[in-house]
Amino acid sequence: MDAVWKLAVSENPKYPQLTNSLVTDVAVIGGGITGLTVALQLAEAGKHVVLLEAGRVGEGNSGYSTGNLYSTLAKGIATVRDKWGDKVTTDVVQSRSEAVDLIENLTERFGIDCQFSRRPLYRFLTESNRKLAKSLDEEMDALKSAGLEVNEIKEDLPGFRVSKGLKLDDQAQFNPLLYVQGLARAASSVGVAIYEHSPVRDIDYDGNEVKTDLASVKARSIVHATHTPKGISLLQTGMVPSREYGVSAKVDATGAPEGIFWALGSFHSVRSYRYGEDHYVMAIGEKHGVGEGKLGRGYYDNLRDYLSKHFDVKSFEHEWSAQQFSSADGLPYIGRMHGLDEAYVATGFGADGLVWGTLAGMIISDLVQVRDNRWSKRFDARRFTPVKSMKGWTEENVKVSKHMVKDFLNPEKIEALSDVEPGQGKVVSLDGERLAVYRNSDGDCSVVSGICPHMKCHVHWNAADTTWDCPCHGSRFSTDGAVIEGPAYHPLEKRIAPEEQK
Ligand SMILES: Cc1cc2nc3c(=O)[nH]c(=O)nc-3n(C[C@H](O)[C@H](O)[C@H](O)COP(=O)(O)OP(=O)(O)OC[C@H]3O[C@@H](n4cnc5c(N)ncnc54)[C@H](O)[C@@H]3O)c2cc1C
Repeated sequence: MDAVWKLAVSENPKYPQLTNSLVTDVAVIGGGITGLTVALQLAEAGKHVVLLEAGRVGEGNSGYSTGNLYSTLAKGIATVRDKWGDKVTTDVVQSRSEAVDLIENLTERFGIDCQFSRRPLYRFLTESNRKLAKSLDEEMDALKSAGLEVNEIKEDLPGFRVSKGLKLDDQAQFNPLLYVQGLARAASSVGVAIYEHSPVRDIDYDGNEVKTDLASVKARSIVHATHTPKGISLLQTGMVPSREYGVSAKVDATGAPEGIFWALGSFHSVRSYRYGEDHYVMAIGEKHGVGEGKLGRGYYDNLRDYLSKHFDVKSFEHEWSAQQFSSADGLPYIGRMHGLDEAYVATGFGADGLVWGTLAGMIISDLVQVRDNRWSKRFDARRFTPVKSMKGWTEENVKVSKHMVKDFLNPEKIEALSDVEPGQGKVVSLDGERLAVYRNSDGDCSVVSGICPHMKCHVHWNAADTTWDCPCHGSRFSTDGAVIEGPAYHPLEKRIAPEEQK
């Protein structure tokens, strides 16, 4: 499962694993766009920073994103206006514009070669649809009232017939993986100590100590830049985790559309990418709740069909998926964690986190330095917004309760592991225990506990990505139980020794 961005990765330095305990000013957990932006800014301000990454820098969700940078939001800025009003909508647009400017500035200052370029963004309908046409009008109006210059488009776009649409100039695109890897090199050059393959397993907030398998880091300030906070957090109660898919195809240079293309209806995001002499077009979409996907690899097939419908495809090349966490009230949570003055979090970015993550880097680095930041109150992670959050909280908590009860009461019972066939993954009840059982196409079987260690929900099989996914709070695990992402610190426990499994 490689995103198109992996094509361009050549000389990415490897950072060591943390093996000796350290004392520092700031421990940043997570080497995505958020963690590296925080770390770089703090180190430039003279702080000693240690960054711990579970895998490799940039290879979390940032490296599987679409690389679009914009001051609006994918779900539409009118959704913020409806809920929060004009002042907040303007703040969202202005703060996000500043974050895109920072990305541009950092690419220039540190010579990060990630194909950053300013591009237009199109949001459009391909068929007439009265309800969506009305929402496009509302979007135009909300963008204008937030101070953005937006124009109606009538002409068709490459690959798409347009029945109605809008164009926003001066947005941007880059290769997100190359950018984050470049940020890591920049951060390292100004003194950030980066450690890869160093997953944090526990945090002792009383002792200000972040613990990995082999060592620990004592730090005055701790930053969760892990996409969703690790462990149990109040913020998770209303946050919706979902997955989305991407595919790429080679096309002729003339068929590659330039810009950010958002086709409304069953929402698809389309963009092109050039690598050497080759031109690629990619489609992203097919969103569903984590652990709730029913189509397996069918999601990738649907995206390939979509590309074939709109472009003259020479060959299909890549397929990948990624995760997003959406907040209950529609704005990200950035700042101090509940009850902890020197622990910080940045989450709830939805589909727009390259820019939110950069903004989080700006806000958190100011908070740690006890400096004013004009956006910190707006996105405060401790805000309490019951009216604006109610719908999100209710829907998410009903979903979690449904999964807890339904999954608990209705396990599939099997007599023996041989009941799970090659290529199948199932959560089953065997001898009274919930097990997550996967048999690969060679017949080898892996068996782990089917209970997520985060908050004891049952994991579900993800046939598209061959993983165990928890529908409650978005933790994901490989077939051998290792944590891939989400709030869980610990793996799914292994259950039966490999030699007994067949
Ligand atoms: C399909 C898709 C396309 C998207 N496209 C766009 C886009 O075009 N534009 C946009 O603005 N947003 C986009 N997004 C959203 C965006 O990808 C994310 O919001 C953003 O990448 C989040 O960055 P991050 O640094 O917070 O998280 P990540 O990039 O996920 O980084 C978190 C890091 O923390 C590490 N980590 C986790 N647990 C631990 C631990 N215990 N110890 C140490 N490290 C740990 C992970 O390994 C990871 O590297 C997209 C999302 C999806 C699903």
